[in-house]
Amino acid sequence: MSTSQTPPADPADHGHASEISEIELRVRALETVLVEKGYVDPAALDVLIDIYEHRVGPHNGAHVVAKAWNEPEYHAWLMRDATSAIASLGYIGSEGVHIVAVENTRRQHNLVVCTLCSCYPWPVLGLPPVWYKSAPYRSRAVIDPRGVLRDFGLELPADTEIRVWDSTAEIRYLVVPMRPPDTQGWSERELREIVTRDCMIGTGLPGPPDRLARQGHERHP
Ligand code: FE
Repeated sequence: MSTSQTPPADPADHGHASEISEIELRVRALETVLVEKGYVDPAALDVLIDIYEHRVGPHNGAHVVAKAWNEPEYHAWLMRDATSAIASLGYIGSEGVHIVAVENTRRQHNLVVCTLCSCYPWPVLGLPPVWYKSAPYRSRAVIDPRGVLRDFGLELPADTEIRVWDSTAEIRYLVVPMRPPDTQGWSERELREIVTRDCMIGTGLPGPPDRLARQGHERHP
């Protein structure tokens, strides 16, 4: 979502496709107008962009989940009062005033959606992915959650119940995935590496990043 980086002008590039997408161009135009009219302060924009590009993102949620996996007391606190347990790690702020943790088990898998718009726990997951905000996801997650999970490459046992949680402006949900059985003895830092954004929304499972590439931007052919 950077709006401040301009690729260096290179005459050799003329005639080739621009690396700037149409949406980026529109964002820049809008930003320019807002700044020129004095509605926004560019310095404040830079701070916000830095926060959501570098400091806030799924790595925060991965920290929470990994800690819960390794520390029973923290796990109990997280399940009892997620907002406080998460805030204790410094993850606070907009769109995270009331967070509820829901834990996956063999019997119940949790899936988070916002049927109304795009409510999402920003302090732990950052900004929502495009698909999370899409009408097909928002409607199908409720009507056919198993089908949605299948689209994400996730086939759950037939006897695992899928519970769908509808986020609101008041309550945001964080899915605590099941810890993979082959990770006993792993450090919290190692565990963080396998906690993906999607598994904290419920559309994925934890695992080695290259094995769980279904993030909407696969790098492998
Ligand atoms: Fe919403």
